[in-house]
Amino acid sequence: MTSVVTRFAPSPTGFLHMGGVRTALFSFLYARQNKGTFALRIEDTDAARNKPEWTTGLVEDLKWLGLEHNVFVIQSERAPKHKEYLQKIIDEGKAYISKETPKEEGQRDEVIRFKNPNKVVVINDLIRGEVSIDTTDLGDFIIARSIDEPLYHFAVVADDFDMGITHVIRAEEHLSNTPRQILIQEAIGAPRPVYAHLPLVLAADKSKLSKRKHGETVWLTYYRSRGYLSAAIINFVALLGWNPGTEQEILSLDDLIAQFKLENVQKGGAVFNVEKLDWINREYIKLLTPEERTKLVREFAPAEISDDVLIKLESVIIDRISAFGEIKDLFAAGEFDYVLSEPVYEAEKLVWKAASKEETIEHLKKAIELLSNLPNEAIEANEAKELLWPYAEEKGRGNVLWPIRYALSGKDKSPDPFVCAGILGKAVTLKRLETGLQSLQNAL
Ligand code: GLU
Repeated sequence: MTSVVTRFAPSPTGFLHMGGVRTALFSFLYARQNKGTFALRIEDTDAARNKPEWTTGLVEDLKWLGLEHNVFVIQSERAPKHKEYLQKIIDEGKAYISKETPKEEGQRDEVIRFKNPNKVVVINDLIRGEVSIDTTDLGDFIIARSIDEPLYHFAVVADDFDMGITHVIRAEEHLSNTPRQILIQEAIGAPRPVYAHLPLVLAADKSKLSKRKHGETVWLTYYRSRGYLSAAIINFVALLGWNPGTEQEILSLDDLIAQFKLENVQKGGAVFNVEKLDWINREYIKLLTPEERTKLVREFAPAEISDDVLIKLESVIIDRISAFGEIKDLFAAGEFDYVLSEPVYEAEKLVWKAASKEETIEHLKKAIELLSNLPNEAIEANEAKELLWPYAEEKGRGNVLWPIRYALSGKDKSPDPFVCAGILGKAVTLKRLETGLQSLQNAL
């Protein structure tokens, strides 16, 4: 038994696509669970479209995801090997230098074509089953622009051969490339790897997830910058076309290594459901240590918000978000303005539904009296609740708690008054209740 070698072979022409994350993950999982090798091969032969920073980005993204490779290959560095194989099959008459009549300006008058044996290729795809393709229609296809410039299909086959790739796990759109690659394999005497073509990743509208239609949301960078956790992304992506066949939906990378089955990947398109990603991410937020959580809140909060304020707001923030990137949105939307500065509001709004101004004034006075008993400047939400609750029960919760909450936040929606008091501290809480009281007295 030869040991398993898989590869992820991105072209460094842009950001890592979420479909690419899945290809990398499934290749990684299959290698790890078989105690094999996971190779990363950067397919940079299209010099016009590659940029070194895309390679750096890809490597860094995979590392961030925890998908570390055992072998790293830069395709362009293998040029001498490509040339050697090309020369060999030309010498053997399996490929030939072809004179061309350029149809457009800039086209070559000489290319290298593969001598197509015109046969039916049968692929036993691990996911798609048996696929037969008659290669006659492909004609004598071009495999290199010149002896030093192999095209994509040729380089892929030569590299897979030399790297000992046993399993080619890649996106479904490559299925149509496979017959050409198998013909080239047979010509250079390479063994055929096992193929597994993964189903399309579809957007919610069931169209193929594409940059043109779905913009930056197709890229991992988007989710990273929005503060999704890498473990949540891995978990979510694993479920794009695969599931463990049990109720378990939260799976760590180790769980996935143990449970993933390549042959159980579905044929049909896999829908990319952002609500599901959000749910999974919230589950992973719950698993963070307090230190990790605080660090991430700090990282994603606006720089001008002090650590003291953030610590007080942390649990309120965590209740509100699916991903850490939403913290900036919450601040930008003014959700926590009341923490940063005194709220501005109309006195009338302190009065709850059927209550009167006079009653509300009484309730605010009582709240001030009760909260003055707090022993320290720092307030626990629970302490404030214990002091206020019996009175609120007696006089009507809305009647009592609404004006308190409104005086503290000036907002129709905010955390409950006890949490607000906890965030603001004793002095500010009492001051705001006084301000509310006075404004209502002035409005009488
Ligand atoms: N470089 C190709 C791509 O980025 C993948 C080639 C392969 O997996 O065979 O789509």
